[in-house]
Amino acid sequence: MTFTSLVMLASLAAAAACLTGCSASSAGSSSSSLVAPPAATPGSWSIALHGGAGTIDKDSPKELVAAYESALAAALDEGTRRLAAGQSALDVAEAVVRMLEDNELFNAGRGAALTAKGTVELDSSIMDGATLKCGAVAGVRTVKNPISLARLVMLKTPHVLLAGDGAEDFATTQGVTRVPNDSFITPRRRKMLDDHLKEQAAKPAAAASPLPIDTLAPSNPQHRFGTVGCVVRDSKGNLAAATSTGGMTGKRFGRIGDSPLIGAGNYASNTTCAVSCTGTGEQFIRHGVARMVAARMELAGETLDQAARHLVFKTLSPDDGGLIAVSRDGSISMPFNSEGMFRAAASSGGLRLVKIWE
Ligand code: ASP
Repeated sequence: MTFTSLVMLASLAAAAACLTGCSASSAGSSSSSLVAPPAATPGSWSIALHGGAGTIDKDSPKELVAAYESALAAALDEGTRRLAAGQSALDVAEAVVRMLEDNELFNAGRGAALTAKGTVELDSSIMDGATLKCGAVAGVRTVKNPISLARLVMLKTPHVLLAGDGAEDFATTQGVTRVPNDSFITPRRRKMLDDHLKEQAAKPAAAASPLPIDTLAPSNPQHRFGTVGCVVRDSKGNLAAATSTGGMTGKRFGRIGDSPLIGAGNYASNTTCAVSCTGTGEQFIRHGVARMVAARMELAGETLDQAARHLVFKTLSPDDGGLIAVSRDGSISMPFNSEGMFRAAASSGGLRLVKIWE
């Protein structure tokens, strides 16, 4: 047996131990993290995806749980198939996020969370770790797959972020698929908004004054789950991150969250890692979470998992959300401080995981 195979066996064993023993380590808060074996061999790849922090009840109908699990598994399989075929991190991240945008279970594309006015405004961003090129759109209302428009902003304009009418106008010039705003709306999201508005109406004093941080998120965690994201290290060692969302139920129209903000909800650099965040966007913006994970690796010499966990368990507040990240060596970390986070991960080394709760 060669030295390299021994090192790989050792890291696989360490990862297996970590999968069973490392998952709940932050006292007092829900937590979950995964350290996949480093991708030490040429041609190896890693992928992680999320369908949002916040969660469905553990006693939800079995069919609903199964539907989420199979949607996550299908997206993971699509990403895995593309990576095994040698596709680039950027292509894979975009394709996986498009698939999740098209699934109405998730808060992106059809099935997105509604604004307080009952409309849909979508935010999305993508970043190429090899070049630091990035593109984003915010507050788009008729673009079926905002992640692909974000990529076109990156490829076809000198800009990083286009918002509102400007983004819609750009979509027209690019010929991307458009749909009426109400075609994004599902009965389930309409009910969530109605419940949220009733809840808000019952608290007139809080609604009349500027909201403190801890009242920004709808109190029912089911009303704020479903943002989607994907981080990839491809077989050439390039990284990419993509994130897409409808934001939070009952948000003010015009509100923009962290998902389209490079460095807050999404970031990728081949020198460190690729990160996609989910949760109360205002908190992720305040702390520049995605870029900060990379900065802690770069400047403080932390591992991906140390940096990601620091942000989620020490910087953010309990129940703010979580993130998925992949490092330049192929390690994966997926910590969250909410009750659950829809998530999945795979690597060429044989890792395959689909999870909702701890
Ligand atoms: N981060 C998203 C936002 O604030 C929401 C989420 O991830 O659930 O827009």
